[in-house]
Amino acid sequence: MTDFRSEVEIAVIGAGAAGIGAARRLREARGPSFLVLEARGRVGGRVHTIAPSGFALDRGAEWLHSADRNPLSPIARELGFRVHRRPPEWVSRLARSGETAEAEADWLATREAQARARRDAAARPADSSLASLLVPGGRWNRLLDATSSWANGAGLDRVSVKDYVRYEDSGINWRLEEGYGRLFEMLADGLPVALSTPVSRIAHGGRAIALETGRGTVTAARVIVTVPTSILAAELIRFDPPLPEKLSAAAGLPLGVDDKLFISLEGALPGVGHDGFLIGSTTRTETMSYQIRPLDRPAIYCFFGGRFAAALEREGEAATFSFAADELTQLLGSGIRRQIAPLAATAWLGDRWARGSYSYALPGRADDRARLAAPVDGRLFFAGEATSPNFFSTAHGAYLSGIAAAEAVLAGFKRD
Ligand SMILES: Cc1cc2nc3c(=O)[nH]c(=O)nc-3n(C[C@H](O)[C@H](O)[C@H](O)COP(=O)(O)OP(=O)(O)OC[C@H]3O[C@@H](n4cnc5c(N)ncnc54)[C@H](O)[C@@H]3O)c2cc1C
Repeated sequence: MTDFRSEVEIAVIGAGAAGIGAARRLREARGPSFLVLEARGRVGGRVHTIAPSGFALDRGAEWLHSADRNPLSPIARELGFRVHRRPPEWVSRLARSGETAEAEADWLATREAQARARRDAAARPADSSLASLLVPGGRWNRLLDATSSWANGAGLDRVSVKDYVRYEDSGINWRLEEGYGRLFEMLADGLPVALSTPVSRIAHGGRAIALETGRGTVTAARVIVTVPTSILAAELIRFDPPLPEKLSAAAGLPLGVDDKLFISLEGALPGVGHDGFLIGSTTRTETMSYQIRPLDRPAIYCFFGGRFAAALEREGEAATFSFAADELTQLLGSGIRRQIAPLAATAWLGDRWARGSYSYALPGRADDRARLAAPVDGRLFFAGEATSPNFFSTAHGAYLSGIAAAEAVLAGFKRD
């Protein structure tokens, strides 16, 4: 990492996936001088690998979504990462979670009907919420809501149909043995990043742009802002003169909440294969998704989202573990209590520099992604997962948005 500098041609705010993508593109251009300003004492942002038990645990992004189209898949391979291609069983796991095969078939048919309803609704002029597509009293409504809390970090009532259908998913999902966070650490290697340098104000009225940071002022000719929408909407970075368009766009794209609880698992679990996926309850929205022995590790990864995750963050790690232990006991019998112990838990809503997990668009606000991404005066540029038109809420969407912003900045430099 690098030392603070008070004058550069291009400043990038944030060293998450988007900031790293932007900085790598700027370095490749061997053109204008640049510096990445990062509030945390580490790079990666919402991609972060820890290893409290010797194997990698991704606190944030874990899956290379749309892995066959994801630019990070070949990069990971080239850098020597072990890429696991075993597909996750996110769709067909009800029969193992206490439902019959007929119930599972009914669930799959309901999911397909919902997908058709979304496509039809998205073609209409007015936007609506995903909840408006539910069949009143439908058997699977609570499970659909729980699924939304995992996919969007928010309940169906909060999410725009038009935005949801714009997300592109090839259905191929891979994982990295060493962790997605480690990949971004490697990608950031050698980049000029000033850590522990939060930016609090962007004064863009003068000839040079002045950035107020915790370590003094940095002036730059161009700035790429990659911080989460939660930081912009809360005005933790102030624009001077103000940019009401950006504040409004950020408010239309709040961060949902998704968290993980990692549990150690001793011994065998009869009837559950390695990398088995289970759902705690098919009749409650407040439930968790479980990954048993992921990548054959002695562990269970628990995933939960939406209002439920926000409430569990407030209750703390012991209460979260107790909830998971109760659900696992229901699914697998009381013997499991002797086999499990908490390893680590996340609290992304309470995380000072994230304030949530990934963005979704409120009903009627799907076009806020383009509004947020639009440059201001050819000098202020915006990147980050929330600005991605088709891969929002992902690490590769963020990375690609950073590259696009850097290319736009470089194109402007050439014209000047
Ligand atoms: C629990 C969870 C699971 C996820 N699972 C997946 C997954 O499986 N696959 C996937 O592709 N994606 C997943 N994601 C989403 C993915 O992690 C994010 O979409 C992506 O990492 C966002 O990158 P970014 O660069 O846009 O933002 P960030 O990673 O948030 O980067 C922004 C950076 O800006 C910094 N910053 C904030 N404020 C300031 C300031 N004032 N001054 C300076 N710096 C500041 C932050 O510290 C941060 O480092 C998951 C996220 C979570 C939380």
